[in-house]
Amino acid sequence: MAKRDEALARIDSYFDDGHFETELARRIAFKTESNLAGSETALASYLEDEMIPDLTALGFVCEIFPNPRQDAGPFLVARRHECDDLPTVMTYGHGDVVAGYDGQWDNNMNPWKITKKGDRWYGRGTADNKGQHTINLAALRSVLETRESLGFNVIFLVEMGEERGSPGLKDFCTAHKDLFQADVFIASDGPRIHPDKPTIFMGSRGVFNFIMRLDSHDGGHHSGNWGGLLTNPGVIMSHAITSMIDKKGKILVEGWRNTEIPDSVRSAIAKLEVGGGENAPQINPNWGEPEMTPGERVFASNTFEIRAFETGNPKSPANAIPPSAVVYGHLRYVVGTDVDQLMPLLRLHLDQHGFPDIEIIGERDPMYATRLDPEHPWAQWAIASLNKTNGASISVIPNLGGSLPNDVFADVLGLPTIWVPHSYAGCSQHAPNEHILEKTSKSALRLMTGLWWDLGVGDTPKNAK
Ligand SMILES: [Zn+2]
Repeated sequence: MAKRDEALARIDSYFDDGHFETELARRIAFKTESNLAGSETALASYLEDEMIPDLTALGFVCEIFPNPRQDAGPFLVARRHECDDLPTVMTYGHGDVVAGYDGQWDNNMNPWKITKKGDRWYGRGTADNKGQHTINLAALRSVLETRESLGFNVIFLVEMGEERGSPGLKDFCTAHKDLFQADVFIASDGPRIHPDKPTIFMGSRGVFNFIMRLDSHDGGHHSGNWGGLLTNPGVIMSHAITSMIDKKGKILVEGWRNTEIPDSVRSAIAKLEVGGGENAPQINPNWGEPEMTPGERVFASNTFEIRAFETGNPKSPANAIPPSAVVYGHLRYVVGTDVDQLMPLLRLHLDQHGFPDIEIIGERDPMYATRLDPEHPWAQWAIASLNKTNGASISVIPNLGGSLPNDVFADVLGLPTIWVPHSYAGCSQHAPNEHILEKTSKSALRLMTGLWWDLGVGDTPKNAK
């Protein structure tokens, strides 16, 4: 048997012998709910009692760093160095999870244990992200045991605050650039485009939240006495919204659209089938950026959403003119959009359209958009490796429609970024009933084993950056 196949056979038995389940179950048991007060001990323990012993056994040198943000969980930096001349990969995972929502899972399943039902393995963190980094590490071990060396160097960063928006991650990486000198970044999080379609993405859309607020007068006023005399802020606000986006979802704010799609991105997207999967809602083909395909709309255009809109008291409507109206706005945006200009452009738009009284407040720390060109040598190398293992074509998404703190790795550390997700859109990752799929996990273990194997073969674009 060729050595590569030996490594793949080894990872198959790791799964079939139940080792994957044992390892994952141990990790799921840590209640690393970073959004809840009192999780500090669990967050530290996941690194000290779970990750460090395993990584040390694989020959990693581990160091824990406090978070520059005092209230946030620590970072683990683990390094395994074989030789300066070999390629160095930076990889990443997050050990924190969202709240467990104990008691709200179907059949009263315990979020901190694995419950298997058909192809599904339930448990908090199975998909996001403990299952994914467990897969990647197991694959690494399989290569190491087969080859007796990796043939490359590894830097593994584990953060414990991703579900809180990665507090301190950017500052930490900026201050410790020397720790993260690598040739390529490869990690796993998020969903495949379809559970049966191995997927690779090279960045993500950015996300920018903002608030629009109009205060017309103090307190509500009886509509019988004041209707016809006082401005209704809800009406004004809805006119403002109509000026910003049309009834088919086309953005009307000058400068907010991004309609330029590079050819390489356009042709990668053309091969993708969007939507689908279990419990997926029906796509409206007439919604969004005109002249674009559904794939281009979700992966290559900017989209504006209203997350919430309130005036008066919808739970108990009064016969009164409400004092104020508030809109929680939201933009997903692609590379090429100047995020610092979003609010000035909106101010200009509102002033020009007769809404100078609407106040706007943009969030201070948006998640930035990133995208590695699908033609980049490292992207091409990874796609070839995954195809070699899978024997079918990999779905290449230039950037995820959703958002990740990928700008830290792509922009701050300057690495070509490659993500190989092992979950799927219906995994309920932030709700009760989070799960991974057995079939997908098995295929993911093989894909990652093949990828780590090929990284050590010596035929990589190491100096192409
Ligand atoms: Zn998450």
